[in-house]
Amino acid sequence: MTSVIIDHDVIGWAYRNMSKIKSQYNDVNIIGKNNSSEELMNNNISDLNIAKYCLKNNCDLLTADTKSYIDWFNAYTGIKKLMISKFDYWNEGQRPILLIQINDNKMNLELNPNVKILRSLDTAPPRFKNKIISMVNESLIQFPELSDDKITLGITHVNDGNATWEDSYKIRLNPRRLTYFTIGHELTHLLQFKGKLPMTEKSTDIFTLARSMLFLDEPPCYLKIPRKLQNYWEENSELIHKICKDSIEYRKNNRNYIQWAENAFAKLKINTK
Ligand SMILES: [Zn+2]
Repeated sequence: MTSVIIDHDVIGWAYRNMSKIKSQYNDVNIIGKNNSSEELMNNNISDLNIAKYCLKNNCDLLTADTKSYIDWFNAYTGIKKLMISKFDYWNEGQRPILLIQINDNKMNLELNPNVKILRSLDTAPPRFKNKIISMVNESLIQFPELSDDKITLGITHVNDGNATWEDSYKIRLNPRRLTYFTIGHELTHLLQFKGKLPMTEKSTDIFTLARSMLFLDEPPCYLKIPRKLQNYWEENSELIHKICKDSIEYRKNNRNYIQWAENAFAKLKINTK
């Protein structure tokens, strides 16, 4: 059963295009109209409640107004992806009809069985806890070498993150400054504890950035990166990822692979768009 909700502002369009809508959905709910479920009958239902309804009932939404849904998406942590596409153009209303789909691909909150969470994380607000668990799960996929290791996960507010190895591998992450890069950096430290990698912070950055594009979501802390490249990090992330991979190759026969990578960053023709 596929369902769609027609928002207030596009009802006029919907009546004229019902056959197109019905060719894609077998259940069409128009806000404030009799055929809709009770919650949607209220003409003054807020955008927030419409969005919540969509999430709960796995419905798509047709609307001309995206701003409020984006605000909602930003404020709500239970979903991973909001997709907006153009469904039609409404000539009389002079606006595009947008299709909003809240992705089924929800955050993966199923904790990896090798990961144990510390009290500091267990008692954290759910929005922190969910975000950390989901991002760590995703990051761990990139670290098959750790798949048999027990990892303890906690929270820190002192720095972006840290990794320790006492009785077990432990990483602590700062929920307010959480990026895939930081998680990758701390997981790379765990590989160092296993004796597989060089131990310096700069090398941790290189090995993290080389591992997967997932970890290119912010510039590293220790490597020397030109300011302009930091400002255009995302635009150049594939090139940066490649430089780091190449520098690890270079390391096989040379000693100064970190310097080699930093030189390559300094010389990189920066893509600004
Ligand atoms: Zn570090």
